[in-house]
Amino acid sequence: MKVLILDTTLRDGEQTPGVSLTVEQKVMIAEALDALGVDIIEAGTAVSSEGDFKAIKAISERGLKAEICSFARIKKEDIDSAADANADSIFMVAPSSEYHIQAKFPGKGNDFVIEKSIEAIEYARERGLIVEFGAEDASRANLEFVIELLKKGEETKAERLTFCDTVGVLTPERTCEIVQRLKKELKLPVAIHCHDDFGLATANTVYAIKSGANEFHATINGIGERAGNASLEEVSMVLEHLYGFKLGINKEKLYPISKLVEKFTRIVVPPNKPIVGDNAFTHESGIHTSALLRDSRTYEPISPEMVGRKRVIVLGKHAGRASVEAILRELGYSATKEQMDEILARIKELGDMGKRLTDADVRTIIETVLQISRERRVKLEDLAILTGKSTTPMASVKLRINGEERIEAAIGVGPVDAAINAIRKAIKDYADIKLVSYHVDAITGGTDALVDVIVQLKRGNKIVTARGARADIVMASVEAFVEGLNMLI
Ligand code: MN
Repeated sequence: MKVLILDTTLRDGEQTPGVSLTVEQKVMIAEALDALGVDIIEAGTAVSSEGDFKAIKAISERGLKAEICSFARIKKEDIDSAADANADSIFMVAPSSEYHIQAKFPGKGNDFVIEKSIEAIEYARERGLIVEFGAEDASRANLEFVIELLKKGEETKAERLTFCDTVGVLTPERTCEIVQRLKKELKLPVAIHCHDDFGLATANTVYAIKSGANEFHATINGIGERAGNASLEEVSMVLEHLYGFKLGINKEKLYPISKLVEKFTRIVVPPNKPIVGDNAFTHESGIHTSALLRDSRTYEPISPEMVGRKRVIVLGKHAGRASVEAILRELGYSATKEQMDEILARIKELGDMGKRLTDADVRTIIETVLQISRERRVKLEDLAILTGKSTTPMASVKLRINGEERIEAAIGVGPVDAAINAIRKAIKDYADIKLVSYHVDAITGGTDALVDVIVQLKRGNKIVTARGARADIVMASVEAFVEGLNMLI
């Protein structure tokens, strides 16, 4: 039996503190989820706001392959909103733990919850909705009651039943026991909904499927309330790659959709996040790089292309012979064995002194040792900044790029931003450069301290780091940026 995926990025994911998506953004994410191949898209809670209602309606009108679902409580108004928004289905939850029953229906007991659930499921069916019926906070409830509740759902002709680990307290072993028990007691497909409060959402979800659950809930990038939900990219890659399940999703779309969700929600994916984090397929260490260049399987469990990515090799203080050779080839230089040893010795020396070595530093070392003097492609000829309490910071720059003079001006949130924006405008006809990260350190303590700026710039697949050190933070930033441009252009 096929494992179903219910994606709840647009519902539980949108409940992430600080996240609010527009109708248009929700439609774009829903289209991307459909192209990825998820079975059910939980698009919001129709009753909760005008925006959610409109989004569910707009997504339903798109004619996507996926089933479009609205979240609902066991309340008539929730069911009506979902049906009026043309959702195909509802994911409707009833409280099952003492905490939730007392918070939602003070003074009432289990029988009341069962009675309300039966009424709600019957009403939803009358309104033509497919019902996925879930027990909320089931992992902290009495399991016998959860089973009784879900059995009533089955008798009332819900179509799927969900066990919710609402506050993320399941463990893999417990998940296994629970799912085996549910599969014995229930005939309908069983779904699992996990949260990541203890970092176990992926493991618990995988254990549930391994133990016979038929469906899992997840979000792109694992976003969601508190520590988030099970992450779709992790669970699906673990199931497919490590456990041999065939989910039938288009895995190469995982990375693009992760980026889309990151952009719209502004929840930045941590660099070390599995599958979709910036560093997941980035290599720096010299020993690793040389083995990797011979055979990519040495330090990569899967090929980056499988999930829609490319390998990135970053040069830094760990740069070994292979990576230095790779830069030499790229620059069109060649070094004798003695020169190579000298380059590596200087890199190691600076690294051992605790200096953060940038790619531009590595290049300077190479050129010094090879006694190559290089005409810099991008030169800063002039920079002027205007800033103040009631003035929008503005910068104008004069650059010489491949011998051509370019003058541009731009505004920004501060003087550094304005200066970088002006430079980006000046170079935009030459190359599409993205600023990946920006890091400032003050080397001494005063306001006249030497400021050390390290930037990471990206052009296509290539990432370089460069530094600028000045007492003036704007100049240090601009210098670092221009240094990086010289590596990339
Ligand atoms: Mn949830």
